[in-house]
Amino acid sequence: MADSFELVGQYPTLVIAELVKTTLAAAGIPAFFENAEVVQQDWMLGNAVGQVKVLVPTPFYEQAMQVLDECRLNREERLREKDEDPGAADRCLACDAEFPQDMDACPTCGWTYAGGELEPFDEDD
Ligand SMILES: [Zn+2]
Repeated sequence: MADSFELVGQYPTLVIAELVKTTLAAAGIPAFFENAEVVQQDWMLGNAVGQVKVLVPTPFYEQAMQVLDECRLNREERLREKDEDPGAADRCLACDAEFPQDMDACPTCGWTYAGGELEPFDEDD
């Protein structure tokens, strides 16, 4: 039985700490909170005592960090894709096809944002 613990992260609210614990539990890693009761009673005091700490038994530490790193990487990956591709994948409100922002009309159905006035698509030059 493990008798020592490692801190894997600290979180401003119990809700986020619970998410982390759930993520770890899904990977078969037991996790424990420190300060949870205090934060629950008073979140301002929670800030003062260093937020909710999530601990795992030392033998699980590396695995836990790997699991959390993967989550973080996935999230950053999604954010990066969004940043590099701002609005390029808007959807047509009429047919739900991809609607590039630099186009005036949907390339699939010819729907246009312009004030609801539908102009004949095939007269574009
Ligand atoms: Zn369309």
